Amino acid sequence: MRVKLEDVTEIVRGKMSEKRFNHVLGVVETAKKLAERHGVDVNTAEIAALVHDISKEQPLEQTAGILRITGEETYLKHSEKVWHAPMGAIVAKELFGIENTDILNAIKYHTTGRPKMSQLEKVIFVADYTEPNRTFKGAIAVRDLWYDLDVAVYEILKQKIEKGIALGVSMHPDTMAAYEYYHELAKGE
Ligand code: FE
Ligand code: FE
Repeated sequence: MRVKLEDVTEIVRGKMSEKRFNHVLGVVETAKKLAERHGVDVNTAEIAALVHDISKEQPLEQTAGILRITGEETYLKHSEKVWHAPMGAIVAKELFGIENTDILNAIKYHTTGRPKMSQLEKVIFVADYTEPNRTFKGAIAVRDLWYDLDVAVYEILKQKIEKGIALGVSMHPDTMAAYEYYHELAKGE
């Protein structure tokens, strides 16, 4: 990474509402805790958490255009709520010079999840869903599962899919594949 963490923090802050920035700080705090608990490098987790929603408030047309020309156009066939995740990985690389593939993947898959996530990917996925500003029942329940990242990931995927069904939105294929994978894993435990 070619920039200092403090500078990244200020750039991130400048790109979003105060409410969203507080969410980001919550993800940072939770990701650091989870990283420590599960043997993931805490500094790496902090960077990924700080940057994960960098593109969330970027205009959708702009995001769509960039995803189209960077070979990520399949995302455009699915819910626009997911677009900021692959977009964020692109921005992380271009703007901050982040080359660490694990960080870039943690950002890219923080909304959909995917099968066989790395420890860092799971830390960011779980932290995003369970940080202190997430006060809905489902999120609070997952905090009791922090001791096992795979179980926590499975529960989150289950909740996301249930919510998707209730709202009638089609889930991203990575979410469905991840659900299958972590369901099998949960059965084996
Ligand atoms: Fe996000
Ligand atoms: Fe987020």
